[in-house]
Parts: sequence; C-alpha cells; structure tokens
Amino acid sequence: MRTQENKRIYFYFITGLLVSIIFVADCRVEEKDLPGFAQKRERMVRNQIEARGVKDKQVLEALRKVERHKFVPKRYQDEAYNDYPLPIGEGQTISQPYIVALMTAVLDLKGKEKVLEIGTGSGYQAAILGKICKHVYTIEIVDVLGKRSKRLLSDLGYTNITVKVGDGYKGWKEHSPFDAIIVTCAPSHIPEPLKDQLAEGGRMIIPVGESLHQKLVLLVKREGKIKQKAIIPVRFVPMMKKDGETY
Ligand code: SAH
Repeated sequence: MRTQENKRIYFYFITGLLVSIIFVADCRVEEKDLPGFAQKRERMVRNQIEARGVKDKQVLEALRKVERHKFVPKRYQDEAYNDYPLPIGEGQTISQPYIVALMTAVLDLKGKEKVLEIGTGSGYQAAILGKICKHVYTIEIVDVLGKRSKRLLSDLGYTNITVKVGDGYKGWKEHSPFDAIIVTCAPSHIPEPLKDQLAEGGRMIIPVGESLHQKLVLLVKREGKIKQKAIIPVRFVPMMKKDGETY
C-alpha cells in the first residue's frame, strides 16, 4: 500500500516538474522572439526587400536578424513587419523597412566602416548598421527618443553603437571623418558640416527638399570633390533645429 502511494506521489511530482519546465521554456521562447514574428520578418525580407531588388547579402542578413518589433511601441508590434512607416511617439516615425534596406544598401558597407547616423528615432536603423559595420555614431535631437534608444540598444547587447542627444546638422566632429553618413530626417539643403566630415571615398545618403517633394540623394567624395545623384522621391520628417524650426 505504502509503496503504491509513494509511487503515485512520485508520479505527480515528476509530471508537475516536467509541466513547469515546459511552461518556463515556452515563456522564454515567447520573450525572445515569437515564431510569428520570425515568420513575418522572413516574409518582409522576401516580399518587400528582395523582391524590390536589394541584393546586398549583409543588409539582407541584418534585416533577418534585427527584431524590428522591439523598436516600435507595443500597440504597433503586430504591424512592425508591414510595408509602411509607423509612429514611434513625439510626432516621429520609424521608416518603412524597404527604405531602411535601400538606404543601407547604397552605402555599400563592407564591415570595417565608421558610420554616422543623423536621426536615431527608434534606434532600428542604427541596429541594422551595427550588425554590418564596425562602429555607429548616432545623433537624435529629441531627448526622450535619444535616451530611450540608447537604453534599448544597450539592453539588446549592441556595444558598437554610440547614441547622443543633440543637433545632427553639425555632425560629430570628434569622431570624424566618417566612411559613411546616413541622414533619416530631411533638411532643405545638404548640411555643409556633414560634407566636411565625410571621409575620402566615403558615401552619404540623405533625403533633401521641402516636405512633399524630397529626393533621396547619394553623395560620394572623391579627391576632395563631391558628386551627387538623386535616387528616388521620398517622404521623411523634417530636420529640426533645437528651437523647433526646420533646416
Ligand atoms: N532612423 C530612425 C528614423 C527616425 S525619424 C529609425 O530607425 O527609427 C527621424 C528622426 O530624426 C526623428 O526621431 C527626429 O526627432 C530626428 N531629427 C530631426 N531633426 C534632427 C536633427 N537636427 N538632429 C538629430 N535628429 C533629428
């Protein structure tokens, strides 16, 4: 009788233990990256990025790895892999995935570069760059956004991204020259300090123009001279001054 009873208790104990282990393991998977998000991300890369002609292997790999849903507010997480920009608070937006991919691809990064980003926003573009190049310096003018991205990128384990709150129009002289510069807010003209801080052979991608008629422009510096070419029409938030005026 006694051993029968002991066996039953033992059975319940082991079953309970197994159920708890499975439950905890399941929760950990959920926290890390839901299979649903992983699937959506793969579909995003195939249907929105590869299908539109982005071929750079490192860019595609970075887009496959970076969990975009962690860079958007909770209520938009289900839409994080959709084909459009999303609000991130403070009147700002995270760019459409294709635009992030295209802008990164035209920089033609190989892996050893020091890159400057103007307009940290959610930190997503910085994370993509962080997967590919050696170091990313990124500047955000809105205090709340800059601080939030700095914390998020550090929590996610990025050690090669430096975030600062400030006015990106002036660039970041102490760390210049930069092998590549990416601007994710639109000034009416190309900021002179950014041209100066571009290294020889360096590339800069920037949206330029008034709010409804911006063009994505690629600049390349060769023998001190800058050549530029327009790529596609785009719509970005304006580049702002500290007093709220636009550049
Ligand atoms: N790269 C971002 C996109 C953010 S939208 C992402 O991946 O989420 C553009 C950002 O540029 C906004 O957060 C806006 O606050 C910021 N911005 C506007 N003017 C700026 C300036 N002069 N210097 C730095 N950041 C600026």
